[in-house]
Amino acid sequence: ESKDTIYNFSAGPCCLPKEVLKKAQDELLNWHDTGVSVMEMSHRSKAFKDIVAKTEKDLRELMKIPDNYQILLLQGGASTQFSSIPFNLLDDNKKMNYLVTGSWGKNAFKDAKKHGEVTEVIKPLEAYTGCPDFSEWTVDPDAKYFHFCDNETIYGVEFNNFPYEELKDQLLVCDMSSNFCSRPIDWEKYGLVYAGAQKNVGPAGVCIVIVRDDLLGKQLDSTPDVLNYKKHADSPGHCYNTPCCWSIYMAGLNITYMLEKGLDKIEEEAKLKSSMLYDYIDSSDDYYTNPVDKIFRSRMNIPFRVKKDDELEAKFLSEAAKEGLIELKGHRTVGGIRASIYNAMPVEGVQKLLDFMKKFREENP
Ligand code: PLP
Repeated sequence: ESKDTIYNFSAGPCCLPKEVLKKAQDELLNWHDTGVSVMEMSHRSKAFKDIVAKTEKDLRELMKIPDNYQILLLQGGASTQFSSIPFNLLDDNKKMNYLVTGSWGKNAFKDAKKHGEVTEVIKPLEAYTGCPDFSEWTVDPDAKYFHFCDNETIYGVEFNNFPYEELKDQLLVCDMSSNFCSRPIDWEKYGLVYAGAQKNVGPAGVCIVIVRDDLLGKQLDSTPDVLNYKKHADSPGHCYNTPCCWSIYMAGLNITYMLEKGLDKIEEEAKLKSSMLYDYIDSSDDYYTNPVDKIFRSRMNIPFRVKKDDELEAKFLSEAAKEGLIELKGHRTVGGIRASIYNAMPVEGVQKLLDFMKKFREENP
């Protein structure tokens, strides 16, 4: 099977556009006639500073990020932000609200508890299939900030109706690792948004933190310098220490590619691709099932079961792989199947999966 006919449904790191990979391949040994690869450049060189500046500029344009928000390209993954956020945002007020609708929100909540007093906005859920109505939430009005995860990657639970109006007095902090760059963001509603790049944006290694200016410089005294947003923001080229140069460069290529494609088109495709799968799953007479409340269904990660039968699912996965449909196994903590269909997954890939699902159902009634 040639590489061109492989469709990679991994939840991340995941597929990147072939055009982006080819451009990186072309530039690998000799970046813009410098005679060296980006991997060999000093992060203090003008060439690399230009790469960072272009990446930030294109991202600002793509996501319409206002000038009073800083874009930081940091290391340590989204998980490091689970601690960086309380270090940077808390002061004498160490109260926080955490809304947990899946494993990532839960991990963020666990780290936050080490820093202060956390209100659990909703009671722990038995199954992550959505979120109770706002009328059932407990929100501490005096908390320093309110944290939530916009798209829970493992369970495929995404906010499509977040109660912004009800929370307009809260400082919103959001983990958008797995749906960043898939739809516009109304920045006025957020103080800080962060996203590990390894889904829609680029390779693993870089985590994008977008933070409003007035929140910088107020970090707790105990904040490690490397986690201090202000240190990064104030350093030449936004590089406090050596950044993950190669990941930033690759993310930059993909951001430019997405900018050329247009966020409208990306969003439209995300809706189309996800509804192709959900519509078929829902019409399959419970042969295929997805447990998530319809309004919370993710456009990026689509977990489903095959007749709720582990053996049949193992067969599904091995036959799918033979047809070039790879990385469809559900997260190790939940099992089943999960199709992650990030920005770089073409509509044809989803169509091929759909055709396979139909055929598999016919052959295994
Ligand atoms: N948040 C979300 C929504 C994720 O999907 C992930 C990883 O998949 C993380 C956080 C953790 O990211 P990292 O592994 O980069 O720390």
